[in-house]
Amino acid sequence: MIYHNSVRLGAKSYCYVWQGRGNNCNAILWPSVLRGACPHVLVDPGHIRNELGEPCFDSLTQAMERDGFKMDDVGLVIGTHSHPDHIEAAELVVEKSGALFTLSREEDEFYRTIGKMFFQAFGGKPPQVNPSFYLKEGDLSLGAKNSKVTVKVFLTPGHSPGSVSLYLEEDKILISGDVVFAGSIGRTDFPGCSPSLLRKSIDKLSQLDVEYLVSGHSTEAGSIVAGKDKVKRNFYTVKIFV
Ligand SMILES: [Zn+2]
Repeated sequence: MIYHNSVRLGAKSYCYVWQGRGNNCNAILWPSVLRGACPHVLVDPGHIRNELGEPCFDSLTQAMERDGFKMDDVGLVIGTHSHPDHIEAAELVVEKSGALFTLSREEDEFYRTIGKMFFQAFGGKPPQVNPSFYLKEGDLSLGAKNSKVTVKVFLTPGHSPGSVSLYLEEDKILISGDVVFAGSIGRTDFPGCSPSLLRKSIDKLSQLDVEYLVSGHSTEAGSIVAGKDKVKRNFYTVKIFV
């Protein structure tokens, strides 16, 4: 059973939109980017299994396979933040392919002190992954000449202390993690949350020129917000909540 709907966006992005009944995040794949035997980059692999027992990671693996990409060929896993529904499966990817793992330094520190307790609270095991490098605000250049992807990294704390959002300028795609959703914003009632920082982060992202807003979760208002005007209107609407 595949619970992920694959949506191709722009020249290089495959979005795997979660469609199960329980909780899991949307994942993003940039295939064939890195040099070497494991060229794919995967953002937010999500849960292994969620609270309803849905096999989230198997579903993602199969959805990718249907598009011709193997989980074993992932060379880098990026975490927008350290919550279980975003990075629980990171350890499995790293085990399978020896992929590198990265998130921001701020989020790593949070994960090691408080964030890993979220896993126990939700009945899971915190993944044993060590970041190979830290995501910093600014340009992250991935891959060789012809297959290069340049990602602009923005530190967008508020939902989690070291949340990042990723922006592909070329295709005007914004991957916002749990900062902003279609018609809604990330929760601010967890440890490590800050409503005032979330507001600043949303303000920062709303300045970008975005054609596709790909958020960490779908809502009743939808999943990917497509079209500049709709994205603008979405930012305008969600600012009422913060
Ligand atoms: Zn989250």
